[in-house]
Amino acid sequence: MPLPIGRFSLTNVARLYQLPRLLQVQHNLRAAMSSSPGYLINEPKYAWLKDLGLEEVNKGVYSGGAWSGSGNRIDSICPANGRKIASVVEGTPEDYNKLIEAARAAWPAWAETTPPARGEIVRQIGDNLRKNLQLLGKLVSLEMGKILPEGVGEVQEVVDICDYGVGLSRTLSGQVLPSERPNHSLMEVWNPLGVIGVITAFNFPCAVFGWNFSLSAVCGNCTVWKGAPSTPLTTLAVTRVVAEVFERNGVPPGVLSAICAGADVGAAMAADERLPLVSFTGSCAVGREVAVTVAGRFGRSLLELGGNNAILVNADADLDMVVQSAVFACAGTAGQRCTSTRRLVLHSSVHDQVVSRLGKALESLMAKAGDPVEQGVLYGPLHSPASVEKYESAVARAQAEGGQIVFGGKRIARLSSSGGYFVEPTLITGLKPDSPLVQEETFAPIVYALKCDSLDEAIRINNSVKQGLSSSLFTRDLSNLFRWIGPRGSDCGLVNVNIPTSGAEIGGAFGGEKHTGGGRESGSDAWKQYMRRSTCTINYGKDLPLAQGIKFE
Ligand code: NAD
Repeated sequence: MPLPIGRFSLTNVARLYQLPRLLQVQHNLRAAMSSSPGYLINEPKYAWLKDLGLEEVNKGVYSGGAWSGSGNRIDSICPANGRKIASVVEGTPEDYNKLIEAARAAWPAWAETTPPARGEIVRQIGDNLRKNLQLLGKLVSLEMGKILPEGVGEVQEVVDICDYGVGLSRTLSGQVLPSERPNHSLMEVWNPLGVIGVITAFNFPCAVFGWNFSLSAVCGNCTVWKGAPSTPLTTLAVTRVVAEVFERNGVPPGVLSAICAGADVGAAMAADERLPLVSFTGSCAVGREVAVTVAGRFGRSLLELGGNNAILVNADADLDMVVQSAVFACAGTAGQRCTSTRRLVLHSSVHDQVVSRLGKALESLMAKAGDPVEQGVLYGPLHSPASVEKYESAVARAQAEGGQIVFGGKRIARLSSSGGYFVEPTLITGLKPDSPLVQEETFAPIVYALKCDSLDEAIRINNSVKQGLSSSLFTRDLSNLFRWIGPRGSDCGLVNVNIPTSGAEIGGAFGGEKHTGGGRESGSDAWKQYMRRSTCTINYGKDLPLAQGIKFE
């Protein structure tokens, strides 16, 4: 029998130990809590994992075209049943050091490769991912805990951004600007940065890597990727698919390096002067540490941090669309998207109706809760016992502050008894918009319904939190729409109308303002962050006129 999660307080453990030890402690606890001996990979039902090149014990470092690892052996745990999937020998800070040197050695040749030739390699990587789409999607589902269509969708997102990268490889461009001096020309030239670091979170174990890698590679950088310590098998399987393309094409080993590791290696990356850019995706708390460290060495950071996203429902909204969107945005991925809806800001004339309909919709979703890898399941588990603990703590705090639970608030007994980390999606009313709990991001399927009397008040509530990632307004009135997207509207990076807060496309720039970190990844002109811009002034005449008409003679 698994030990009851409530007996452990991972928060207290975190207080006792230094941060670099925390993730190892989490792994050990999770391993201790798994109920069955043996690894899933050795059972016939999970034999497909071997088709992705995975084994019972895997080397967790890919560097210079070879696999190694000299750190701790950790188990990857399946959130649906608490059992071990397979294990990985992590990399140490020393392994990391060697890896960076291999990446630096690979860089000159890659930087000299023309952008379209780099794009051709990215095109082939996209194709290799297409071939492995279903299997990789199943692995994401098994290891992270999101439902199968979302697991496959996540890998599809990497395919999409590879396609985007191919186009970008033919269109990377600077400007030619008029010079005030005769026979002079001003132009912008964009060059790669060198070796860049990418640190990713557990909830999107491959898409965020893809957003960064595709653009970084096309721009001429070598990329070093540290995935989340609790999703190492996805890191390895995706890296293997990329590595196959490199080997087939003779790409310098080191254009991509990957390391399965915890906070110690993440902190080393933040402090490493050899990484001109660190792209970090994760919590606001860790992102703040990374940002300060990188800024302290005048490096560049690209931050994609936590959100506290709201759906605003105006009196004229189409409530069928609202309820359908809210179910996906609140309960999809069991509330573990950075863009999940955490607050519903409802006009008082529709508040009761939306709350009642959403409560019923969440209840009926429970018939489709189960093992996320199985066909037809729409609602899966939380990722870890630590996530369950945070969920339970937030529910208890909400009740203590006077909140009423309309639906949810508990573990799902029929699914948790087999060792999985299942909790009910939870709708809570009666809390104030400025309550400390409502102002926080709880990374779990909990949504607070808040009442308002006007669009101005709703926008004020939307903007009142520290985070600024995603926001959606439901209205049928055009004048509301333009207020919402205008200067006194939503202060978020993603500002939607009549769609959920989650589910962005790769074509636009993705990211958020304020404590979400200000970074932008994926489409639009996000590629500029992976390059350095030189303003070049070329004199093609015989005189030396100075700018601003200055005479120095
Ligand atoms: P986390 O901050 O705990 O970990 C993220 C990554 O940072 C992991 O790889 C971890 O090993 C590493 N890390 C931990 N300590 C570090 C340190 N001191 N220095 C450097 N690296 C360190 O986040 P998580 O729990 O994995 O992910 C959930 C969070 O990520 C949520 O807050 C969510 O909103 C956010 N997120 C944001 C986006 C976005 O695009 N804005 C996308 C996905 C997730």
